Amino acid sequence: MINSPENTEAEMRSLLYDFRRYFEQQKEEGIEYLESSSPGGLARPPRRPAARPVTAAAAKASRPAAPVPRPAAAPAPGPPLPPPAAGKAASDPREAYRTLLEELRVCRKCPLSGTRNHTVPGEGGNRQQVLFIGEGPGRDEDLSGRPFVGRSGKLLDKILAAVSLGREDIYITNIVKCRPPGNRDPEPAEVIACRPFLETQIKLLRPRLIVTLGLPAARTLLESTDSLGRLRGRFHDYQGIPLLPTYHPAYILRSYTVENRKKAWEDIKMVRDFLAGLRK
Ligand code: SF4
Repeated sequence: MINSPENTEAEMRSLLYDFRRYFEQQKEEGIEYLESSSPGGLARPPRRPAARPVTAAAAKASRPAAPVPRPAAAPAPGPPLPPPAAGKAASDPREAYRTLLEELRVCRKCPLSGTRNHTVPGEGGNRQQVLFIGEGPGRDEDLSGRPFVGRSGKLLDKILAAVSLGREDIYITNIVKCRPPGNRDPEPAEVIACRPFLETQIKLLRPRLIVTLGLPAARTLLESTDSLGRLRGRFHDYQGIPLLPTYHPAYILRSYTVENRKKAWEDIKMVRDFLAGLRK
């Protein structure tokens, strides 16, 4: 065949036609890019994964994990407070309590502020005006900002339930509002720094009975150096309010003996009988 310009053009057309068909075929098979074998050739762009039907489970799994909420920095709202005593200045105790909570939230009066996650002011419904006071927040309390929420709290709930009391009936707090590292007892300087907060709480909550949980709380309020064995089992007087020392639930959990549980049971029955006596 003579290689005339006309023939060359016809060959080119035929070649282009073949190429176009080839590309269309490839495209139908889902191949949009051809590999370049030369080092400088165009690289294949990253291929998108084929779309899969979305199931409810898959949608849930693919959702970005919700950020783990930090416990609310704000302290728990104040408890229901008893009405102001007749004839006293009509300052609003709820407003005073809110102010106290805000002061506690930002307090830096002692070194415990440097290691805490949250201050733990206390909480409870206070229906029966019984104030339980422990020594200080533990790990769970520091993380949540709420008092007695760990194992000790669960045991306390059981002890209360045994005499038909619930958190709605009491208010519960500690002598220091920030966690002592490693759950050690609070240092005297820390107790002194925090004590005005506790005294304000007692003034505003006006408890009819105070129950201290553990030796540090009993010794602090009674200004005593006696052992808990000598202090418990009878009512004391704290500024005109009956005060009953008993074991801290954490101690009962650590020393889970029949004798300790029996003593704790005797103490909580005294609380029950005291409240029953007020109703007569
Ligand atoms: S323990 Fe009491 S005094 Fe110390 S920083 Fe906490 S709230 Fe303030």
